[in-house]
Amino acid sequence: MKFICDQMLIRLGRWLRAAGYDVEIIEKSLPDNEILQRALDQNRLLLTRDRHFLKTASKNVIWLQANALEDCICELTQKIAIDWLMNPFSRCTLCNQNLEEIITHDSRIPANVKGQFNRYWICPSCKRIYWEGSHTQSMKLKLSCWQHYR
Ligand SMILES: [Zn+2]
Repeated sequence: MKFICDQMLIRLGRWLRAAGYDVEIIEKSLPDNEILQRALDQNRLLLTRDRHFLKTASKNVIWLQANALEDCICELTQKIAIDWLMNPFSRCTLCNQNLEEIITHDSRIPANVKGQFNRYWICPSCKRIYWEGSHTQSMKLKLSCWQHYR
């Protein structure tokens, strides 16, 4: 299951990436038909709150009514049984790339966290470094909670 989401759902898209899903986020304004075409071409489910998409009968469109992030997550999970613990933190939440594990003494690891954790990962695209710190732990807790919406 792959997704594409529009500007209104950027945060939801990033959380889906955190769960391990492949999510293209449209960060700029594109015509509706182009977004839908992209979803169809790439076999992605389109997540949107844009009412214009209610008119399209495409199976690829998942229209969300909720506004707040938590409500969107609940609504989406009840609609299509998202597995929030599918493969957590395997992707860069910013650019959707699969992360690559790096050695613990890699010179690219910031000095303030080096040696403090057992594993580190890098995004091959933006070069951001990831590790399982307290921020990741609290995100994991949220993902586990959202599993109960299924
Ligand atoms: Zn990245």
